Amino acid sequence: MTYDCVIIGAGQAGLCLASFLTKKNITVLILERDERIGDVWRRRPDSMRLFTPRAMDQLPGLIMAGDQKGYPDKHEVADYLESYAQHNNLHVLLNKNVYSVEYNDKIYSIKTQDGETFQAKCLVNATGANQKVNVLDISRDIPAEIQQMTIDQYQNPKQLSSKNIAIIGDGASGRQAAKELAETHNVTLFCGSPRPFTPQELFGINTLVLFKKMTILNSDSRNIIGRWLRKRNFIPCNNITNKILKKKGVRLYSKFTSVDGKKLISDRGENCEPHIVIWSLGYKEDTDWLTIPDSSNSDGFICQVGHDVGGKTPYPDLFIVGRKWLSCRASELIYGCVKDAQRVANFVEMALKNK
Ligand SMILES: Cc1cc2nc3c(=O)[nH]c(=O)nc-3n(C[C@H](O)[C@H](O)[C@H](O)COP(=O)(O)OP(=O)(O)OC[C@H]3O[C@@H](n4cnc5c(N)ncnc54)[C@H](O)[C@@H]3O)c2cc1C
Repeated sequence: MTYDCVIIGAGQAGLCLASFLTKKNITVLILERDERIGDVWRRRPDSMRLFTPRAMDQLPGLIMAGDQKGYPDKHEVADYLESYAQHNNLHVLLNKNVYSVEYNDKIYSIKTQDGETFQAKCLVNATGANQKVNVLDISRDIPAEIQQMTIDQYQNPKQLSSKNIAIIGDGASGRQAAKELAETHNVTLFCGSPRPFTPQELFGINTLVLFKKMTILNSDSRNIIGRWLRKRNFIPCNNITNKILKKKGVRLYSKFTSVDGKKLISDRGENCEPHIVIWSLGYKEDTDWLTIPDSSNSDGFICQVGHDVGGKTPYPDLFIVGRKWLSCRASELIYGCVKDAQRVANFVEMALKNK
């Protein structure tokens, strides 16, 4: 069977798009590599709570149960996505890890690791913007007796039996891990260039809700506000400021730049001798599986951005959802993927009409 559309990835972006396509009577299949929908969230640290309130963590047609101003934990989001797929009767095949794609005679052949091939007239990449953690080349200079891991492998302090921890990267995830590890471990946090924080709430209202009301969150990636927001790169830090971290006993060092024996050294000469290094320098896409020519480059997947064309790629029937800044700051968020999915559903519909 040749599907009208195959979507790779059953995260919020892929599921939301599938529900829009189904309503347009387009035959759609989602291929998901995990065992369960929502496992991306289940693997995140145990203590994780979203920085967006429930009212902003739901997709059209299904309310997330609980206080709409409160912040859900990772299991609530994971289970919500699973029930969203059931609620909309979406066709999702689990344990299907896509590893290559071919494009011949305007048909995509999508191969999975277990040897199956699926065919589609349109293909949508919904594999997410946060698949791999950035690790610097200098990691190779760190001696083997120091354990290295990435922040997506970190679950809770009990997992780390050695005491001295260095976390490299002071974004939201690095700060959260530093705060909770400081209760039981000696923690050094290597920080990047200072970035502004988004406080959790202003005047008792979640800051992102305020930004949404002020339409800042939806400012087009290409206009002056969008470009300013992107440049400022605010950290939604759940109020974990430097002051709070210092109070907890976390040593805040400047940028990690060199290794001398077992010592990790900052650009200001501060040093520590950790047993474990946790890399937390932000996330990036995994482009390995999209093996058709000119679909990705060193910046990741090639696509257009903005509220009118965001999601189009160099191929007339290949699209992307769930990409950071696809149309605006909100694109990366649960709340923001909806508009992008709606637009891309229209693109898919048009592409099928033109076939
Ligand atoms: C630590 C962290 C905290 C966050 N907190 C919030 C928050 O509080 N509020 C908010 O709105 N947003 C938050 N986000 C941002 C965003 O909502 C999440 O990153 C979300 O998971 C993105 O959804 P997605 O559907 O785009 O991608 P994902 O959730 O990553 O889904 C992609 C899916 O594709 C599958 N996949 C990948 N590759 C393949 C392949 N080759 N074959 C088959 N399947 C594949 C994956 O298994 C996954 O299920 C957070 C992000 C991170 C990293």
